[in-house]
Amino acid sequence: MTSTQIAERTFSFELFPPKTDHGAAKLRDTVSTLNARHPAFFSVTYGAGGSTQSNTFATVDWIKSQGIEVAPHLSCIGSKRSEIVDIMSRYASQAIRRIVALRGDLPSGAGAGSMGELNHANELVALVRDQFREAFHIEVAAYPEMHPQALSFERDLDNFKRKVDAGADSAITQYFYNADAYEHFSDACVRRGIDIPIVPGVMPITNFSNLVRFSDACGAEIPRWLRKRLEGYGDDVAAIRALGTEAVSKMCQRLLDMGAPGLHFYTMNQADPTLAIWDNLGLGGPL
Ligand code: FAD
Repeated sequence: MTSTQIAERTFSFELFPPKTDHGAAKLRDTVSTLNARHPAFFSVTYGAGGSTQSNTFATVDWIKSQGIEVAPHLSCIGSKRSEIVDIMSRYASQAIRRIVALRGDLPSGAGAGSMGELNHANELVALVRDQFREAFHIEVAAYPEMHPQALSFERDLDNFKRKVDAGADSAITQYFYNADAYEHFSDACVRRGIDIPIVPGVMPITNFSNLVRFSDACGAEIPRWLRKRLEGYGDDVAAIRALGTEAVSKMCQRLLDMGAPGLHFYTMNQADPTLAIWDNLGLGGPL
């Protein structure tokens, strides 16, 4: 890609808050390595995988202290409005300018009923816009292969539009391994008059059993040819990574060729798998 094409798009990296000192040291190394590629921002998950709010704050504080753009994720399910406003006030006072606004996952066993004062991400977006006006760039989640709890693709799209109408500035997708799904979703959004940038979320492939577990849970389809080939490698981690890097790099190239407005990498706090894809795409070396 030319430098102009790269500059017009948003490339970002997602991290999760570490729970141990060892994990924190690894995260610092990862951020330092990836930051040399000049991403638009690093995002930090919230409450995902059982992490606590304070782990997210500590990670956000450290990244911010390094002078690096950081976008905290914030989920609203089970929260009171006042708690959300307190967290957002904290971020505003730190001059944080971007958040990823989410519903969050329902506790296992919870039904579809009300969980608290805010039940869907569009309500969180509306609250942040109402209380903080234009202080934040608000990212929301999008699901090219449909959210696993959605009643239909069309209903899911209606609900995605609610988030946009409530004031979302851009979206990051759930990861997928099928560029056609993104293309169809983007086209459907255009037909609905949704014109915010929708940045594909990219999950590097490093481990077959984890990949299958995560993908089953979040509704990401692993194409049969890829699943069968990865499975066939058994414990050969190097072969799994090599094929995974090749397949994901090719998909990313296709996404960029079809006009995707950037890429958001789910790094899982590891620099190398993301950088292997980054370098295959020619997105630029360290400066
Ligand atoms: P919503 O947009 O609220 O949608 C959830 C479901 O409800 C969908 O089926 C939708 O169709 C339906 N729906 C939406 N609005 C309405 C409405 N008004 N009325 C009726 N139905 C509605 N989870 C975490 O816990 N922490 C994180 O940090 C985190 N980061 C993420 C980052 C990205 C980029 C993505 C894609 C997901 C992330 N998740 C995270 C997972 C996310 O919380 C789950 O996918 C969750 O199940 C849905 O969140 P959402 O914001 O998309 O919810």
